This record gives sequence, structure tokens and C-alpha cells, in this order.
Amino acid sequence: MAKCKQCGKSGLFLRVDKRGLCPDCADQRLKALRAFAANPYEGVLVLGKSTKLNEVSILSAVSDQHKNIVRILTDSAKIMENTKDPSTFYSRKEIARREFLALVRLEKIDPSLFSSSPAESYSNFEAVAGDSESKMWARAFEGTVSKIGSLKTDRAKANAASKYLEMLDQYDSKMSPQAVKVVSAHREMLRAYLS
Ligand SMILES: [Zn+2]
Repeated sequence: MAKCKQCGKSGLFLRVDKRGLCPDCADQRLKALRAFAANPYEGVLVLGKSTKLNEVSILSAVSDQHKNIVRILTDSAKIMENTKDPSTFYSRKEIARREFLALVRLEKIDPSLFSSSPAESYSNFEAVAGDSESKMWARAFEGTVSKIGSLKTDRAKANAASKYLEMLDQYDSKMSPQAVKVVSAHREMLRAYLS
């Protein structure tokens, strides 16, 4: 006797497709994929009377969105790993999160589109981002220290140090606990320039 993998419905005359879905669930899946292709970030299901669902064209549109999301995610990760500008870093982090959540949404609709689980990877998102955040702050600090080193007067050095300290305060609320630790060591060292 056939049983639907999604809703659990079973019966002598129930047909399931190659994914193990009953006709209702198969229809829902296509509608959800169509909605995803139209807007991967909202995930609003477009329900209502079923117009013709062309699986091939829906899957191709979903695949385009999928590729685009992965590209933005990869770009963002690269930028997060290389920038020494906190504003760039934190805005890219939010973009990366948004793209990641779109993949998690797509995985819920159709797990068979993934060889490794985005939801699982997303559970490490904060830890991984926190690691590259600490490195970003290390680069930013290095840049400031070398700039301070090139300045002639004590006054100019103190000004540059206090400007950087002010910027640290500005980003305080966005910092991960990991980054807070790294940055507090930087604060100590920069205070030496203020007298
Ligand atoms: Zn079903």
C-alpha cells in the first residue's frame, strides 16, 4: 500500500510520485518552489486555484535563484575574510545571513536539491562569522597601529588612537563575544597613546 512521505496519507488507491509524495503534496511542493523562484527571501506561499504548474520551468527558475544565492554567499564570505572595514564587514554579514536563510527555506521545500544541509551549516554561522570578525578587527587594528607609527607628533598619534577608540565604541553593540575580547586588548594598547 502506498504511503505519502510528506503527509502520511496512505491507501489502496493512493498514487505517490518518485519522491514518495501524494498528488496533493506534490502539488504543494511545486507551488512552494514556484513561490521561491519568484521571491527566495520572503518564502510566501502562493496558494489558490492551481494554474498549470510546469515542473521543468519551475525547477529551472529555482536553480537560477539557487546559483545566484550561492554566488552572493561566496562573494560575501570572501569579502568578510579580507576587509578591514567594520562597516563593510557587518553589512556583508547581514547579506550572508539573508542568503543562508533563503537556502534553509529552499531546503525545507525540497531537501533533494542539496547534497549537504544548509540548515546544518547555518547552525555554525555565528561561530564562523565570529571567527572572521575577530580577524577583521585584527587587520583594522594593525592598519591603525602602522598609521600611528608613521605620524610625527605625540598629539597626532593621540588623535589617531582616540579616533579609533571612538569607532570601536560605535561598533560595540554589533560585536560578538569573541570579537569583544580581541578588541578589548586593542583598546588597552591604544590607551597608551593617550596621555
Ligand atoms: Zn501527501
